[in-house]
Amino acid sequence: MARVPPVLGAASPPAPTDPGARAYAEAAGGPPLRQNGSHVTAQLRNWSGTYQFTAREVVSARTADEVRRAVAAGGRVRALGTRHSFNDLADNGATLVSVSGIAPDPAIDAAAGTVTVGAGISYGALAAWLQDRGWALHNLGSLPHISVAGATATGTHGSGSGNRVLSAAVAGLEYVAADGEPRQAGRAAPGFDGLAVGLGAFGIVTRITLDIEPSYLVRQDAYSDLPWDRVLGGVDAVLGAAYSVSLFTDWGGESLRAAWVKRRVGDAAAAVPDEFFGARRDPGPVRFIEAPDDNLTVVGVAGPWSQRLPHFRLDSTPSNGDEIQSEYFVDRRDGAAALEAVRRLSAKVTPLLMISEIRSTAPDGLWLSGSYGRPTMAIHFTWRNRPAEVDAVLRDVEAALAPFAARPHWGKVSHLTGARAQELYPRLGDARDLFERLDPDGRFINARLERLGVRAPR
Ligand SMILES: Cc1cc2nc3c(=O)[nH]c(=O)nc-3n(C[C@H](O)[C@H](O)[C@H](O)COP(=O)(O)OP(=O)(O)OC[C@H]3O[C@@H](n4cnc5c(N)ncnc54)[C@H](O)[C@@H]3O)c2cc1C
Repeated sequence: MARVPPVLGAASPPAPTDPGARAYAEAAGGPPLRQNGSHVTAQLRNWSGTYQFTAREVVSARTADEVRRAVAAGGRVRALGTRHSFNDLADNGATLVSVSGIAPDPAIDAAAGTVTVGAGISYGALAAWLQDRGWALHNLGSLPHISVAGATATGTHGSGSGNRVLSAAVAGLEYVAADGEPRQAGRAAPGFDGLAVGLGAFGIVTRITLDIEPSYLVRQDAYSDLPWDRVLGGVDAVLGAAYSVSLFTDWGGESLRAAWVKRRVGDAAAAVPDEFFGARRDPGPVRFIEAPDDNLTVVGVAGPWSQRLPHFRLDSTPSNGDEIQSEYFVDRRDGAAALEAVRRLSAKVTPLLMISEIRSTAPDGLWLSGSYGRPTMAIHFTWRNRPAEVDAVLRDVEAALAPFAARPHWGKVSHLTGARAQELYPRLGDARDLFERLDPDGRFINARLERLGVRAPR
């Protein structure tokens, strides 16, 4: 099995090339993709290599016009991001369109406090560009290599009890609609809350407008051996103790492995405490998983938000790669009970696990967001690439989390069914109606969206 290597981003907005498609072509030993061309994708895999696409071609668009032409050509078509999802969400057995090759051309509107940028840009590249100009995003996910369009389409999040998911910063979208024509939607438009986490279900987003704020400094520190009883005794206090808090655990023992605490600081020299809820500050170097030594962002020294909020460095090989990921969102008020439920499964979970990460997000009103309507605690699992065993243990994890109405991450592996999705996402029916109205002929549907009731079955 050829494994597609991680897609490396650039430090500044990338040249108009399609890194995802290029990495695929190189990994498959095939010729580089033709500019403006398409490519049969017999071996196209997701970032971790654990999902093989069934699509027949990928159109690597260089301009919004090429996206329009690809959609106007007819048939089923879906947007492909940087392929960091772990399931068939981006696939359709037909034509995929990547917008990563469209020049990002970022434009800041200082009065509105927004940036508008080509939607295929990676978060890391956009963050570096904004930082150079004194601007910032409110938060970032763990991996900076993921595309803005793909990340926001699935409700991707970082951490911080006061920080909403990345999609909550989406203030406007330019997209190619089902009739092949360009459309725009802004935050004030009716139904916009259904589009911001859009799962590729209504069109292909070519440009995206995000809220920005003045640049800020972040210092991150790692604290080792965080006692479980301190976490279970005060989930809200622990996760809310800094701008962004991530807890890492393998679920065994009396302590979590580490807390990664990201503090917004006004002064780079500001002192930080040596203790965090009974955990000791670890001067580093920090390693949480089997991964290259130098792939994590810097701890112990304040720096720009763009270089501290992601866990992984933009200029290094991210994460382990040979892995499967799952994640569940529960109401933070049920946090301790949900953690205890998973902890009781540690004999089954730990042997298959690389690491789990526990994060928090603020409630939002986005219809398909994992944090819709409730303060959220996210329980993430990075599994070893042992699909059958992971599949089995996930059923146990899901049964244990069922009493907490745990919403699975759209881009990760789960056994979510349509009936359950309907219970977990109170606005799912509204989202489906909106998508059906915008795309009555089902141009952007796929099997997953039909199965989960996000689109009407054809
Ligand atoms: C190592 C790693 C770390 C991760 N860290 C986090 C994390 O910290 N937090 C978190 O929440 N998730 C995380 N994820 C999950 C990841 O953020 C999501 O799966 C995300 O959706 C992937 O984006 P992508 O660009 O790869 O999109 P893809 O996986 O290619 O596609 C995902 C969805 O986005 C849609 N889409 C893509 N581009 C467009 C477009 N232009 N227009 C319309 N729809 C589009 C696709 O149709 C599809 O439905 C991580 C994944 C990996 C592999």
